[in-house]
Amino acid sequence: MGARFPLGRPGGEAGTPPGYAHCVSLRFPPCRGQHLWPGLAGSTVFLAKYAHFGGVLRYFYNRPVLKQRTLKSLTRAVGVGLHSGQRVEITLRPAAPDTGIVFRRVDLPNAPDIVVSAESVTDTRLASTLSCGNAKVHTVEHLMSACAGLGVDNLFVDITAEEVPILDGSAASFVFLLQSAGIELQNAPRRFIRLTRPVEVREGEGANEKWARLEPYHGYKLSFEIDFNHPAVDSTGQKVEFDLSTDSYSRDIARARTFGFTKDVEMMRSNGLALGGGLDNAIVMDDYKVLNADGLRYDDEFVKHKILDAIGDLYIVGKPLLAAYSARRSGHALNNKLLRELQAHPEAWEVVTFEDVKQAPQGFAQPARAW
Ligand SMILES: [Zn+2]
Repeated sequence: MGARFPLGRPGGEAGTPPGYAHCVSLRFPPCRGQHLWPGLAGSTVFLAKYAHFGGVLRYFYNRPVLKQRTLKSLTRAVGVGLHSGQRVEITLRPAAPDTGIVFRRVDLPNAPDIVVSAESVTDTRLASTLSCGNAKVHTVEHLMSACAGLGVDNLFVDITAEEVPILDGSAASFVFLLQSAGIELQNAPRRFIRLTRPVEVREGEGANEKWARLEPYHGYKLSFEIDFNHPAVDSTGQKVEFDLSTDSYSRDIARARTFGFTKDVEMMRSNGLALGGGLDNAIVMDDYKVLNADGLRYDDEFVKHKILDAIGDLYIVGKPLLAAYSARRSGHALNNKLLRELQAHPEAWEVVTFEDVKQAPQGFAQPARAW
């Protein structure tokens, strides 16, 4: 015969042993013999440990928490900086829970750390640059985008020059590197910034107006519109949406390359920029057409690259966002302005964790495969 006992509320009751987050108390009526508790076995509750406290039996258990992620092992790559043209090596290394993403300039005396945060962004003219004192690292957005797309929270990035290598001009090479090193779950809950009110920044007027906006959303989605008056761009999509719950970052976004126009490239080179850029790491266009022999990787590769950049720029806030981002003609500067606006309005967001992974939005509950 089974007997029913009132279930106590989960909570950190006194006597909960280390390593267990939850507890239920089962109050015993005076009884003899064995009892069964229907509903406990086979539920999401994982019975881990129990103890007697007088007439009360307490079960201690952990739900499957949505955990932070780092790498299983380290991985290295060598390439050139898009703007500096300098040879650079990066080593991606595992980092402890709550470290965040930290760049380390191993070529400088005392190997200074540059911790990723909205305040550490000091230049957004052609790429996102982070600084700490005199130490800088340029063009972090594609690596940051890959980390966001694969849900990597904690990572050391040792770097031997002041610019992240451009590799193939997209985030696909970084996705490959991160996946090759393997992704490891860590024993700490993943913390999210959840929007509770909209936050918006605008610049310019009329046809020149640009804006970027974050709104409350149970998940993460981005919508971006560009307005390039160029035949090669006009003939493709100028607007795209990406939703982490239904779309795949690696498949749908990561392969989109950065792009430029030959007339701008010549001007940039005369100013000492884009020295490492070329047809093997960017889409290059003259006044009429794409010059790359193999054409585009996606029909709407241009606007998809803007989404890729936005995912990287927004991840600089230090935690994944639960929000809907939408933007028109935004770029690194406006994306960073949006993060600063968010931080200036602490009433517009809260930090949350998911003690039960089933409560997390789709896409975060099943992040990219952890090899
Ligand atoms: Zn980019």
